[in-house]
Amino acid sequence: MSNNNGILYIVATPIGHLADISIRALEVLSSVNLIAAEDTRNSKVLLKHHSIKTPMTAYHDHNEDKKRQVLINRLQEGESIALISDAGTPLINDPGYSLVRHVKQAGIQVVPIPGCCALIVALSAAGLATDRFSFEGFAPRTSGARKAMFESHRLEQKTLVLYESSHRILKCMEDIKAVYEPARLMSIARELTKTYETISTGSVDELYERVATDSNMQRGEFVVLIEGIDKKQQYEGLPKEALDTLKILLSECSLKTAVKLALELTGQPKKELYKAALKINDSD
Ligand code: SAM
Repeated sequence: MSNNNGILYIVATPIGHLADISIRALEVLSSVNLIAAEDTRNSKVLLKHHSIKTPMTAYHDHNEDKKRQVLINRLQEGESIALISDAGTPLINDPGYSLVRHVKQAGIQVVPIPGCCALIVALSAAGLATDRFSFEGFAPRTSGARKAMFESHRLEQKTLVLYESSHRILKCMEDIKAVYEPARLMSIARELTKTYETISTGSVDELYERVATDSNMQRGEFVVLIEGIDKKQQYEGLPKEALDTLKILLSECSLKTAVKLALELTGQPKKELYKAALKINDSD
């Protein structure tokens, strides 16, 4: 790495509360030559709050191809630059990936200045398993794509974490309710670190009711978390429709016949259907 190059700092900023920023982040933002911000008007509020007067330039999805080389040239001239986004950690569902990649390819040092990230903040207080999780970014926009995504995660033992907007939170909950068992544990982390912060944890059924019946629960910014499947509940690893079919058949026929018919109707593995049938009968 050339000593003449400046450094690109990737600086995490608050996701709501303006005080949620590290001392090191404030020092870096004050001392660099330039701050590349996703939205300079938005970041002005943060910088003003912390009395930081460093010049800013816009760096966002729509100008990144043009702007990238300009920033790299300045780094090669020895200037240091801090990249920030509107909220939280840059690059996490925010611009910056191609900049970091190209900057590293140019042999310029990239230094992360860690801090807030909505998905981690949500996980830390939701009360769901955190040892393994899968972050899917923003939930797909259409119901069909969302359901397919939930279906592909339903049998995973890791917690699923998603970002969702206020426009789609209710529709997203409808799809969760359609795919997951009613008792599956989930959380909705809303307006984290802000005045109306709400972190609700409960069953899929409970949280659907809460969102559907309380319009305040449909406002703001959301992280949606769904706990992975319980190992002991493996029989629930069958798709919801197959399990429902099996339950109806068991209420009408013998275990052997119910499994045979369920196999024909659902095409699910016989072993799983048999295991599930035994558990359902045991729990009656
Ligand atoms: N870079 C950010 C981070 O580190 O979390 C994420 C940016 S992404 C464009 C914005 C999405 O993150 C929002 O739509 C919401 O899903 C989530 N988010 C950001 N701030 C949040 C907050 N205060 N409370 C809940 N979710 C938040």
